[in-house]
Amino acid sequence: MTAEIIDGKALSLKLREAMKEEVTKLKAAGIHPKLTVVLVGNHPASKSYVNGKKKACHETGIDSEILELSTTVTETELLQQIHKLNNDPTVHGILVQLPLPGHIEEQKVIEAIIPEKDVDGFHPINIGRMMTGMDTFLPCTPYGIITMLQSKSIPIKGQHAVVIGRSNIVGKPVAQLLLNHHATVTTCHSKTKDLKSLTKQADILIVAIGKAHVIDESYIKEGATVIDVGINRLDNGTLTGDVDFQSVKEKAAYLTPVPRGVGPMTITMLLKNTIKAAKGLENREG
Ligand code: NAD
Repeated sequence: MTAEIIDGKALSLKLREAMKEEVTKLKAAGIHPKLTVVLVGNHPASKSYVNGKKKACHETGIDSEILELSTTVTETELLQQIHKLNNDPTVHGILVQLPLPGHIEEQKVIEAIIPEKDVDGFHPINIGRMMTGMDTFLPCTPYGIITMLQSKSIPIKGQHAVVIGRSNIVGKPVAQLLLNHHATVTTCHSKTKDLKSLTKQADILIVAIGKAHVIDESYIKEGATVIDVGINRLDNGTLTGDVDFQSVKEKAAYLTPVPRGVGPMTITMLLKNTIKAAKGLENREG
């Protein structure tokens, strides 16, 4: 079997076209969706992620602003800036680019953003809403993964989904979303015993480890759907996933590439959440 590739870049372009039209209509009605991204320090990877988000906003017609703060900014100063953005009616979505420097407590910062502007979906209130199946901002990467599965009409209900990774931004929320869609979910991590015996049962395998090519075809059930979330930079500078693409391609039914897979979808769902925030806030204010 040779897997059908789920092209996250192509799907993103399609979804962003529809969003562009929606933004045009919102603007005609006087609503100008705006995202503010807070960037602390000048870590090259963070800078590049933030610029990617700004470019995507621009292409979709969403206003965006990058608030650049020095690495030495204090936690109190950062919280004050967030407070200002919370109270700025022209800002609909706030995203603080992680990781933050060690002297700032990330959880405190995440909780300072009001849930109505938390377009990353990381605030505990929004996580709780997701867990109980309420309307909320879904975390962008898990939301993108579910959208990719749906784009190919890949069944989730009743399927065995195995997630490798238990981070708060990918592993845990994607497991919860799959459960919300009625999958039977197994979450694996670095302490899991006999990982392979579990992954080989997966109808849907989500890999979010952060180590290049650790999952090869020996971990895969014939005909499975494999979603590679990992982004790893090799010594030669190329980006690659956690999955050994070439060998897994011959065994899976569906497979996402890296790059052009989950990465672009994460940004697309951020745009979607920002539009949702703009509509939500305007509705409340109106
Ligand atoms: P993380 O480091 O917070 O979590 C990694 C998880 O993998 C942990 O739960 C750990 O227990 C597990 N793990 C590590 N080694 C393992 C092993 N040998 N076997 C089984 N489990 C193991 O990372 P994260 O933030 O969840 O990100 C994971 C990867 O996804 C990274 O490469 C990151 O860059 C990438 N990522 C991509 C996107 C995207 O948009 N495509 C978004 C977020 C993260």
